[in-house]
Amino acid sequence: MLWHGARNPKVNVDVHLLETPMSIFSATVLGTPRIGPQRELKFAIERYWRGEHSEAELRSVATELRAHTWAQLVDAGLDSIPTNVFSLYDQMLDTTVLVGALPQRYLAAAETDLDRYFAAARGTAAVPPLEMTKWFDTNYHYLVPEFSAETHFTLHPEALLEDLHAAQAAGIPARPVIIGPFTYLRLAKEADRAATPGLGGALSRLHDLLPVYEELLQLLAAEGVEWVQLDEPSAVTTLSSAELELLGKVYDRLGGLAQRPQILVATYFGDTKDALPVLAGTPIDGLALDFVAGDLPPQDIPGLSEKLLVAGVVDGRNVWATAIDGAVEQLVRASERAAHVAVSTSCSLLHVPYTLAGEDLPTIEERAASGTDGLCREWLAFGTEKVAEISLLAQIQRGEKDPNAPEAQTARDITAHRRGSAVTNNPTLRKRIAALTYADYHRPDYAERAVLQRDELNLPLLPTTTIGSFPQTAEIRSARQRFVRGELTEEQYDEAMRREIQDVIKLQEDLDIDVLVHGEPERNDMVQYFAEQLEGYWASRNGWVQSYGTRCVRPPVVYGDVQRPSAMSVTWSAYAASLTDRPMKGMLTGPITMLSWSFVRDDQALEATAVQVALAIRDECVDLENAGIRIIQVDEPALRELLPLRDEDKAHYAEWAAAAFRLATAGVAPATQIHTHMCYSEFGEMVGVIGELDADVTSVESARSQMEIVSDLEEHGYRQAIGPGVYDIHSPRVPHVEEISAALQLALKAVPAERLWVNPDCGLKTRRAEECVPSLEAMVTATKNLRAQLAQ
Ligand code: GLN
Ligand code: ZN
Repeated sequence: MLWHGARNPKVNVDVHLLETPMSIFSATVLGTPRIGPQRELKFAIERYWRGEHSEAELRSVATELRAHTWAQLVDAGLDSIPTNVFSLYDQMLDTTVLVGALPQRYLAAAETDLDRYFAAARGTAAVPPLEMTKWFDTNYHYLVPEFSAETHFTLHPEALLEDLHAAQAAGIPARPVIIGPFTYLRLAKEADRAATPGLGGALSRLHDLLPVYEELLQLLAAEGVEWVQLDEPSAVTTLSSAELELLGKVYDRLGGLAQRPQILVATYFGDTKDALPVLAGTPIDGLALDFVAGDLPPQDIPGLSEKLLVAGVVDGRNVWATAIDGAVEQLVRASERAAHVAVSTSCSLLHVPYTLAGEDLPTIEERAASGTDGLCREWLAFGTEKVAEISLLAQIQRGEKDPNAPEAQTARDITAHRRGSAVTNNPTLRKRIAALTYADYHRPDYAERAVLQRDELNLPLLPTTTIGSFPQTAEIRSARQRFVRGELTEEQYDEAMRREIQDVIKLQEDLDIDVLVHGEPERNDMVQYFAEQLEGYWASRNGWVQSYGTRCVRPPVVYGDVQRPSAMSVTWSAYAASLTDRPMKGMLTGPITMLSWSFVRDDQALEATAVQVALAIRDECVDLENAGIRIIQVDEPALRELLPLRDEDKAHYAEWAAAAFRLATAGVAPATQIHTHMCYSEFGEMVGVIGELDADVTSVESARSQMEIVSDLEEHGYRQAIGPGVYDIHSPRVPHVEEISAALQLALKAVPAERLWVNPDCGLKTRRAEECVPSLEAMVTATKNLRAQLAQ
C-alpha cells in the first residue's frame, strides 16, 4: 500500500475510515495520447486497413507504444498510471464493446472482433458506421453508442483484461480507466425508443447497464486492482434534477458494492458545480476535479473531506507551461478540504501533442542573446512537459521539495517572462481595440444593403455559387509537398496554383455558375493557412492531436497579440477575378473558427483574442474590397464548437461570437456583399445566433436534413438571404436534377425566391472532379428550370 504525505490535521476524519485505510496515490494524469509520438499507431492502423499489416503486426506496434508510454510515466515519478486508455480508435467505442452493446449489424459484418470493431468505426461496403460527434467542447470525436430493442448489455472484459495483465506484468501501478455509466448513457442514443422526459440520451437504460458495471468492478477487485477510474465528464454539463438524482444513485450503488476496487470518479472540461455535492455524498473513494476550468466552492461539501481529491491543476487540453504559484495555491486550498490530495491534469492528455522535443523554438536565453522577442520554448508544455510539471508539483505537495526550489523558481520566471513580453501586449493594437465603437460592429440596415448590392452585382434570381474549395487534386498536393521539400521554388509553386485557378474558373464558366470562387488550391487547411501568415500565431512541426480514429490535426498556437503584417489572400483572389467577368467571391476563415481549431491563450479571455483575430480579418476584407472584390465569404463552420457546456453560459458566448464576426465583416461598404458558411447538421441552439452575424447571405449544410434549417431560421426572424445546401457533398453520389429541384421547392416553401441562393452543402475539396462536375451540372440545370417556372 502506498502512503504519501501526512494526513492533514485540520481535517476531521471519521474513526471508521482509519480502520479501513485507503491506498492513496499522489501524482497522476487522467489519460494519455495514444497515436504515438510520430503517429506510429495511425500509420500502423492504416496499413492494417490497406491489408499491408496483419492483426498481429498492428497489435505489436500498439503494445510497444503502450509499454513505452507507461514506462515514461513511471520514470517521471507518477505513482498511479491510467491504463485501458490505449484505444485503437475511440474510448467510447471501446466501452460499447466492453458492455456488449455493439449493434447486431456489425457482428455480422466481419470475421474477427477487430474487424467488427473497425466496421462500427468506419462502416463497410454493406453497413454504415456508428454516428460520430464531438466530445464535449473539444475537437475530439467519439462514436455515438446506438441502442435498439435488441441491445442487451453483457460484460466483454477481454480487451480490458489483456491491457491490465500487461500492465501488471510490467509492474505498472495500473488504474484502469472506463467511461462511467452515467456519461456513457447520456451520450448514447436510442434507435427506436423515444427519450424519457428529463433524462438525456439513453439514461433510461441505467437499470440494464449497472449490473454489467457491478460485475466489472467485482472482476477488477478479484484481479487485484486497487483503483479504477470512471470518467464522468457529463457531470460538468447542465443536468436536470432527475439526472442529478440518477448520478447519485449510480455511485451509491457502485460504491456500495462489497467487493470492488477503490473508485475514482473523474469529472473534467468544466466546474462540477451542482454535481459535486451529489458525487461527494456517495461512497466512492476519490473524485477528480478540473481546477483549470473550475474550482472548489467556498461552502462545505459533505463527504469530500474523506475522499482522495485528484486536483486537475495542470491544463490537460491546452499547451501552456503551468503557472506554478497558482497551482501550489490551489493544492494548498484543496488540502484544507480533503484528507488526501493528488496532483493531476485537468483532463486526459489526449488533447495535447506528445512532446516539445523536436520543435524548432528559441529558448528564453536564445531570445535574449539575439535580442528578439516572441514565443519561447519554455512558455509551452506538451504532454511530456506536463508530466514533468506534475511530478514537480507532487514533490512540493508531499513536502519533499521546497516551493522555492530552483526548478519551481524557473517555472515562476517563465510565467513572468511570458506576461512581460511585448508580443503578448501590443500597445498599438490595444489602443485600436479600446477605440472601437458601435459603428465598427454594425453595418447599415440589411434592407438598405440589399438594394445597393442588387444594383452593384446584378445577379439573376436564385444565384448559383459554391462554398469555396474545389477538389484538391493529386497535382496540387504533389506541388505543395515538393514546395515544402524545397524541390519547387516559390515562383514555380505559385505558377502551379495559378494554373489550377485558371482551370477552376474555366470550369465554373462552362457550368454557367453565377458567383465564382478561385477554388482555394493554395490552402493546406483553412485555419493553418491564415495562422501561418498572422503574427502572434505559431504552427508546430509535429504537434499532432487525434481528431478521430486515425485522423490527426496540428492546431496552431495563438501565443501573442494577433496582427496581420500584410494581406493574406488578396493576390490570389485578385488574380482569379482578373480571369473572368463574373463576380469573384473572396474567401476567408472567420474569427471563431480560427480560434476553435487552434490552441488559444490562457492569459486573456477568449473573447479578447477573438477581437484581435476579427480585426485582422476585417483588414483583409477591406483589402479585398479595395482590390475590386465585391463579394466576400467569411466561413464560420465551427461557430457551434465553442458553445459552452452549461446553459447559463451560452447567451454570453452567442453575443461575443456574433460581435466578433460582425467586427470582422463590418468594415466594407454596404454595397459589398458578405457571405458566411456553416456546416454542421445540429444547428438547434445556434439558429438565433446566425441572424446576429448579420451576413448578407448564409450558406448552410442542409441536404441531409430536408431543408429544415430554412424554416427554422425563418421562424427565428432571420431576414437575410440563405443558401441551403442542395446536395450532400459528403457522399460520392451524383444527385439527380429532380432531387435538387425537389430540395429547392422545399426551400421555397419557407423563404421567398428573392432571398434564396443555390449551392452545395460544403466545400468540394474532399471530392473528385468526376463527382463534382456532374453534380454541379445538375445543380445549375435544376436552378434554370426553376427560374423558367417562376418567370411564368
Ligand atoms: N470555404 C471552405 C471550403 O470550401 C469551407 C470549408 C468548411 O466549411 N469546412 O473548403
Ligand atoms: Zn462547410
